[in-house]
Amino acid sequence: MAGFRLKVATRLGEKIALDFGFESFPVCPRKIAESRDISVEAKPPEVTGVSGAIILAGDSAMIIYSTELQNEGFENFSIAHELGHWFLPGHPEEIAKAGGMHLSRASFTENTSIELEADHFASGLLMPSRLTRNLLGESQIGLDGIVQLAGVAKTSITAAAIRSAECCPYPVAVIVSKGQKIAYAFLSEAFKSLGRLSFLRKGDPLPTSATSRFNATPENVRLGRRSTEQTDLSIWFDGPRDIELDEEVLGLGGYGYTLTVLSSEELPEDPTEADDEDAQLEESWKPRFAYGR
Ligand SMILES: [Zn+2]
Repeated sequence: MAGFRLKVATRLGEKIALDFGFESFPVCPRKIAESRDISVEAKPPEVTGVSGAIILAGDSAMIIYSTELQNEGFENFSIAHELGHWFLPGHPEEIAKAGGMHLSRASFTENTSIELEADHFASGLLMPSRLTRNLLGESQIGLDGIVQLAGVAKTSITAAAIRSAECCPYPVAVIVSKGQKIAYAFLSEAFKSLGRLSFLRKGDPLPTSATSRFNATPENVRLGRRSTEQTDLSIWFDGPRDIELDEEVLGLGGYGYTLTVLSSEELPEDPTEADDEDAQLEESWKPRFAYGR
């Protein structure tokens, strides 16, 4: 059922974007807050380790967002996440019960269900499926398309990567790592259909790969360098051999995380998935939307 609630959250985000008249990129969460008389303010610098917060006060609210990373996409995603707590059914009640103030934490600490729902809401709000599909077109999703989507939609690169995988008919795997360990992974429906694949879990060691070599030099991550190599499905997932994949790697900067995108245009579109929009929103296991970049 968790998957269903997350789909509903994504759809509500898309609907709110439309309701507020956003029919092209970028959707601006600040404007939506403004028209609801919700004030949006930068977080005081002495409060750290929090990506944002929402404070409920009767019929109105105040949103606070972190500027620590000095990244517009990250800030927009944070504000959209907090708006999720305002619009999603049950969230204001749950926050009111906890005293009326909710702190959202960056990175990959144990997320409650309302955190995941707010992440999916933010993803739908900033990247409605129709706009996202139009932008990405029919082509294979690679790092270039993801970086372009993040720029046009003004959202974080990791959120754009996950959304691309959701909306793309091709096999795509998005993997976020730190050091030699996996932080989380998200597989498109078509990728899952490549075979019985082992799950990549949080804390698993990276396989010997372009990513593990890239992360061995922390500067690569910090300076936002890129690397591209060929890899094989079996290296990452114990899946069938001889399925060649592109492995594109991008350092996500000061946050210390690395994005890896595995994809191939050699692979056929999965016919069972093509017009099942809902299936594309199903996650293989709890994805963690990164706040960093
Ligand atoms: Zn939150």
